[in-house]
Amino acid sequence: MTDKEEFVVTPYEVKGRIDYAKLREQFGTQELSASILDRLQQLAGGELPPLLTRGVYYSHRDLNLVLDQYARGHPFFLYSGRGPSGPLHISHLVPFELCRWLQEKLGVEMYIQITDDEKFWARAQLTREESVRWGYENLLDILAVGFDPKRTHVFFDSRSIAALYPLAIRVARKIPYSTVKAVFGFPPSTNIGLVFYTALQTVPCFYPSWESGRATPCLIPCGIDQDPHFRVTRDIAEGLGYPKPALIHSQMIPGLLGEGVMSTTGNEKDNALFLNDPPKVVERKVRRAFTGGRASVEEQRRLGANPEICSVWALWKTRFAPDPKEFEQITADCRSGALLCGDCKSNLLEKVHAFYRAHAEAREKVRDWAESTIITRAPKPD
Ligand code: SF4
Repeated sequence: MTDKEEFVVTPYEVKGRIDYAKLREQFGTQELSASILDRLQQLAGGELPPLLTRGVYYSHRDLNLVLDQYARGHPFFLYSGRGPSGPLHISHLVPFELCRWLQEKLGVEMYIQITDDEKFWARAQLTREESVRWGYENLLDILAVGFDPKRTHVFFDSRSIAALYPLAIRVARKIPYSTVKAVFGFPPSTNIGLVFYTALQTVPCFYPSWESGRATPCLIPCGIDQDPHFRVTRDIAEGLGYPKPALIHSQMIPGLLGEGVMSTTGNEKDNALFLNDPPKVVERKVRRAFTGGRASVEEQRRLGANPEICSVWALWKTRFAPDPKEFEQITADCRSGALLCGDCKSNLLEKVHAFYRAHAEAREKVRDWAESTIITRAPKPD
């Protein structure tokens, strides 16, 4: 599939070459404009992270309203989640890294949902033991991004059901089956767990308002493929007396082999860098990665390469060259032919190995307090 017209993006399927501007139009979301980013920068009191300045996040719903309220002294909270079916790859960290930055700069609360139930319902080959085990493993990777333990709260669905259920009951009554069927395209064979799951995924958007008795805005950083889930939530929010959740959407990180996006589900495991990949595997994957380089060294020196189609450049852009000057230099040297792909990959590998080492250390440190973040009881009698 090569034609941009043929791309498909849903919460359960991403394929084809995505035309992100067209997707934003199709989904009816707003552009993440320079004026909104300026406002966020003023509120945060410092430089914006590369994820915001380099177009990785590019779309939103009502972010302006959330920032307006924050400026008037009404803090929002952050919500993001993970369906555990295997190890995380580095592009899974993108929403959590933005959340970490927002939590640090704006002092807001963070809610994380680990949907071990949803993944069990969605993947016929996944056992309950596996979905729970991956839930804990993924949670450690997420917390290792650097969240503040005092401001971070986790719904681990199968363990947090007593807290989730009173609100899920109310949410479920507002969502007709026809809506879920239309939004997610479920065939008749879909199990009833997945049909109910939308109610559970909605609960964290309202939970702090329900708990405190005060309308508290919610901001959800997520890949744009997850937007349909929250369209349903936004449609019912006000009917239940809660604010519509706002969203900020990222593009997906391209796969290492130049095919589609980094994904857990593809057959080709070399298309993604998983956080549990040993160093030798990381090395092999980066060396195999698709580039925008030329057929020969001579040609590349003469004509330069094309960073826009390069999966290595996408890694520099999203994570491994946070210094704007360094990133500009890599991009300029790529275009001019001063940088060759083999050297570029060697430079990147140094950064990637250093990142894996730091992440493994951070992961060990969060083990001590991860358990204490899991919400297991309802905050008040139903
Ligand atoms: Fe990609 Fe680096 Fe080659 Fe440029 S020099 S095409 S960024 S691998």
